[in-house]
Amino acid sequence: MNLTIKPGREKSLLRRHPWVFASAIQPLDKEPASGLTVDLIAPNGSFLARASYSPTSQIRARVWTFINESIDKDFFRRKIRAAIAFRQMSKVEGHTNSYRLIHGESDGLPGFVVDHYNDTLVLQSTTAGSEFWKETIADILVEETGIQNIYERSDVDVRELEGLKPITGVLRGTIPDSQFSITEYNLKFNINIATGHKTGFYLDQRENRHRVGELAKDRDVLNCFCYTGGFSIHALANDAKSVLSVDSSGDALALLEENISINNLPADRHTSLEGDVFQLLRKFRDENRSFDMIILDPPKFAPTAAHAEKASRAYKDINLLAFKLLRHGGILATFSCSGGVDAALFQKIIASAALDAGTEATIIEYMSQGSDHPVSLHFPEGAYLKGLICVKG
Ligand code: SAH
Repeated sequence: MNLTIKPGREKSLLRRHPWVFASAIQPLDKEPASGLTVDLIAPNGSFLARASYSPTSQIRARVWTFINESIDKDFFRRKIRAAIAFRQMSKVEGHTNSYRLIHGESDGLPGFVVDHYNDTLVLQSTTAGSEFWKETIADILVEETGIQNIYERSDVDVRELEGLKPITGVLRGTIPDSQFSITEYNLKFNINIATGHKTGFYLDQRENRHRVGELAKDRDVLNCFCYTGGFSIHALANDAKSVLSVDSSGDALALLEENISINNLPADRHTSLEGDVFQLLRKFRDENRSFDMIILDPPKFAPTAAHAEKASRAYKDINLLAFKLLRHGGILATFSCSGGVDAALFQKIIASAALDAGTEATIIEYMSQGSDHPVSLHFPEGAYLKGLICVKG
């Protein structure tokens, strides 16, 4: 089936951006079924791309390919082999047994996220197109990785926009226990693939946890939005003087405590605190508390650019308070995973937070997502995670 693109709206496709908005498509005589493969045709009648159709989403079509090739099991096998080859090239398995194997659009597979945890894969399908091909993809994953067990975590809100209900459970093989431990830079982490955030763990922060951990030696560390303790565990393993970990999720903090214990780390140097970071930072300020290192890794405040202004205020608020709580020479490791706030804007926000806190600060390192979360040059939205390591002057 063909979808004709409105005059002028083919430009983004010619730049190989994979999304086609509903407003860019000429009215249809007959609507394709959900997830069906359609051809995108330029106003002059030429072939632009082959895509999946999403009847209810504003992103009405997502491109599988810009060349005239069949979309079938062989096509997906080639994509998955390429994704596996990328991870082998970047040697991610050199320091972990858990990494992202398929990163959506950046691996040419819109709607699919697949994370590899030890000998289990966790798959997330978020679009009509990925839902259409899910069983085929699951078969190929088993064939190409040799991993028998796939758990599905398709329980994200964005599925609603595609008219899809949440689905979780075993997709292939048997998964006797959804909680098990993975390894990251010689440290162990208990994760729960059924109940944890995302697919169980924030794999995108692996390299940053390692780097920030190295800087934590002999410091009093405050880890805000700590989840199951990623940064805290690395800091303790690197002989931080003390670590205070804050999160609003009691379940995450319970796993953090387990993670301290399975790594034989000194529990007497660590404190978990359940609560709201925005309130606790104010409380610490009022109590005149201070730290040598503060980590801010909040959830996504701005999923899209439309939320950027409100998100900017929230980022500025916590970073300003963090600058106030830092001692002279203290380190701020601050992150944003908001697609709607790009790296340049994020740096501006942090600069204005330092200004309003009345402090000098210097960036000593720029951080981003690990190489197992690659970015297609044609899909800059794929570069969502940014971080700065700043020293308070
Ligand atoms: N740094 C972590 C990932 C952080 S994810 C890692 O490396 O694993 C963001 C965390 O922020 C989640 O655990 C969530 O429970 C927590 N969170 C969200 N809003 C919060 C708030 N207002 N106060 C405290 N924690 C919050």
